[in-house]
Amino acid sequence: MPKSLARRIPPVRRGLAVSLALAAVFAVTIACADPVRAAGATLESDYVRLVFSNRDDIARLNKKIDFGGSGGWFSSSATTDVEGRLLRKIDAIYDKAQRILDMRKPQQQKLLVRVAGDNDELAATFLRIFKRKGSARAWYVYEYNTVYINVQDVNEGILAHEFAHSIIDHYLAVRPPRASAEILATYVDKYLFGEVQTRNDFQ
Ligand SMILES: [Zn+2]
Repeated sequence: MPKSLARRIPPVRRGLAVSLALAAVFAVTIACADPVRAAGATLESDYVRLVFSNRDDIARLNKKIDFGGSGGWFSSSATTDVEGRLLRKIDAIYDKAQRILDMRKPQQQKLLVRVAGDNDELAATFLRIFKRKGSARAWYVYEYNTVYINVQDVNEGILAHEFAHSIIDHYLAVRPPRASAEILATYVDKYLFGEVQTRNDFQ
């Protein structure tokens, strides 16, 4: 049975259209892979595999990801179908998180994103994984390389934050302390729409 080492992370205030991004990192000791429930749909982008329990949630998730504050950083004009638009947004967020962190290297495997249809489904997933009740809006499990979200309560900042956790944990040879990783991931969702700083002060 997995022993939960879960830890809640306090809410983070954001100054843009996205006002709150509450996220959590969990470490679990596992004996087997995350069991897969019958999926309603699966979509693959360059970086991410999205698993939906309900196909209708594809359009819902696409609506939840708002690039209104991006100042032209992202344009969805080229793709018209909802799946294509969603995948472009997902990859744009992942790519931006990599650039903000200055952590880019080929993925060993795509990040899995499990999209719950509502809070009850997310809570049931939490209970299944951690063997206790929890109220996290989203979280990332390193051992599964999986992000868990609720389509009814997600935004681009939450996605960027959780993607950042995966990027950080897979870039460094030794995973950083949780507090350090949290600071980095919080920076990513806070400055998702900002200019990427080039760090060459000593050159
Ligand atoms: Zn976090």
